[in-house]
Parts: sequence; structure tokens; C-alpha cells
Amino acid sequence: MIVSGLEVRACSASRSAEAEALRGQAGGARHDFLVYTIRTECGRSASMFGFAGASARGSAHIAASLAPLLKGRSVHDREALWRDFRQRDRMWGHFPVYVWGPIDTCLWLLAADAAGLPLYRYIGAARHAIPTYVSSMFLETADDYVAEAEAVRKQGFAAYKLHPPGRSVEADLEIHAAVRKAVGDDFPLMSDPVAFMTLPDALRYGRGLERLGFKWFEEPMADENIPALTELTRQLDIPVVGTETIAKHPYSLADIVARNVVDVIRADVSWTGGVTGVLKSAHLAEAFAMNCEIHTAIFHPLELVNLHLCAAIGNCTWFELLGPVEDFDFGLKGGLPIENGVATLPDTPGLGRELDWDLVDNSTLEVMG
Ligand SMILES: [Mg+2]
Repeated sequence: MIVSGLEVRACSASRSAEAEALRGQAGGARHDFLVYTIRTECGRSASMFGFAGASARGSAHIAASLAPLLKGRSVHDREALWRDFRQRDRMWGHFPVYVWGPIDTCLWLLAADAAGLPLYRYIGAARHAIPTYVSSMFLETADDYVAEAEAVRKQGFAAYKLHPPGRSVEADLEIHAAVRKAVGDDFPLMSDPVAFMTLPDALRYGRGLERLGFKWFEEPMADENIPALTELTRQLDIPVVGTETIAKHPYSLADIVARNVVDVIRADVSWTGGVTGVLKSAHLAEAFAMNCEIHTAIFHPLELVNLHLCAAIGNCTWFELLGPVEDFDFGLKGGLPIENGVATLPDTPGLGRELDWDLVDNSTLEVMG
């Protein structure tokens, strides 16, 4: 199967008022997205959503500039293309971290589809169902977090992760304590401040989470803050989790994993180089007896690829979804295969779901390629 073309659409989905209100806190235009399509000379195609960063049109133009790298190449030459992209990136391309993931994913989907296998079984299945947890957005009050955590628990999800508002260590810990009190001691809770704390603050925060029986403490400071993270991980008992924003997986993770800068790494299909990138990072961690917890890819078509990856690696506990789940439930016909908090893997070839092309067509701002 030889690639004949790459099309990239810049898209902007219609937004609910509530989602619009969260945009600033969510850190960007989270309902703007791209749709990549790779076509082959034999008439096959595969499509996948992509992250749009600060500009859907800008990101789409950069993505479409990679068409000459792909045209005329076999969809099975994924490692050669990975190497060539890496070279192009170094030789003054300096691409956004999210540009290669959907391209690599489309190549994998074409190959899995042609083989007649679901993606995760084409990679190599480790399991067929994954417990799922819901991560909050940045909410206002303790009551907001308590209400969401209780709803998530009642719906059968395996755990709940707070993205706390970040007002102060003490104020955040009060919110965590309120949620712990509401859901009881046995329901798994995690915390992901997405913050730039000092080491003393992060230590105080982490000790507070330990007292509340939290499962993990994620990104209390920037992923590249290696010396402080190393010391934090050394001093705390609660697992410290990070690396979702580190560029150039898996090479940039080698020292982080080998020296236990964090206890658990993060990777996802969108920001860390597609299926190939996640597999490389997850396998690197596995060799060091470390988990690679798959990080949300925000958009449900990409989340479904993440789900295939969760099922194809042995060192990931849970599948992550952003809440409110219905706010992000667009892009897939039939939605994600989750019931009572457990995600099951499709048994049809490739991705296992069609993209919602009506939504994509209605959201398209510009088509390139
Ligand atoms: Mg995170």
C-alpha cells in the first residue's frame, strides 16, 4: 500500500456555553481540531482527529507541509517514516509536538484494517477491557468537585482525578479532603495540579495527598524541572507522575526513566508521536519496571486510539477520559465503547468506529492537500 496523498482539515466544533466558559482554564481552544486523511494508490484511506493547538488553520498548514514526506512511501514503512520525520524536525522543521501523531496513527490504521484486525490486536493484545477514570476540568468550588466525583463513582468508573483550581496549597487540599470525605476511603482518587510549584510547596501538597490516601500526584511542577522532581519523588511516598508535555518521546525520557525522576511516566497518541511514539515510551518504561499511564488525548477519536494502546501495553492501569464526558462526546459515530465505567475493545478491523463525518463536514473551516 503506497501513500498517494495527505489531506488535513482545520475544524472548529460548535461549543456549548459551559464548554466555552471553560476554554480559558482548559488552556486553549480545546474544541478546535484537525482531521487528517491519508489515501493510498490502491484506493484505501484512514482518517484521524488531531490536536489544533493555538490555531487550527495554522496547525493544519504545518501538518499538510508533510505530504511530500509521505507520498510514494509504503504505509508499512512506519519506522523509516518515523526516522525521516525526526530528521526533518531536526533539520529546521521544529514541528509542534502534536503534528506527527495522527499521521503515524493513520498508517497503523491502514495496516491493521488491511490485515483484518482491530488495531490493538494488530499491535499485540495484552487485554480486552480497561477500567476507566474521569478527570475533572478546573472547577470553582469544593461542591463542584464533590458533585462530579460522586456522579463518576455512581456511574461505575474506576477512579476520579482532580485538576484542582490552584489557589493555594491549603485551599486545594481542603477541596481534596472534601472529595475524599464524599466518596469514602476506598474509591481511588488522583491529583493533577498542572502547576509550577516550588519544591517546598510540592512536598507539602504531596504529604497532604498521602494523608488523604490519594493514588498519585501528577505534574505539580513543569515536566522539565528535573532536579526538583527528582528530589520530590525521592522524598514522597505517593507516586509522582509526569512527562505528558515532554517533547521528543521516547529519547527525552531515557534519563527520566533510568534515574526515577518520576515514578510513573505519561504518553498519549496525540502529543507523543502517535501509536509508534507511545509504544516506544511505554516499552522503555516497562524495561525499567515502571508504568506508563496513558494520558487523555481530549478528542474521542484520538481517545479510542489511546484505548487500543491501553489494551496493547501491559504497564498501564487505567484509561483516562475528561469530564464532563458528554462535553467531549463528539467525533465518533456510536461514541466510545464504555459501559458502567469499563471500556471494551472493538472487535472489528482498524479503529472499530467510523468518524462522524457529518460533524466533521459541519466543522470544517479549511481543507488542505
Ligand atoms: Mg496531566
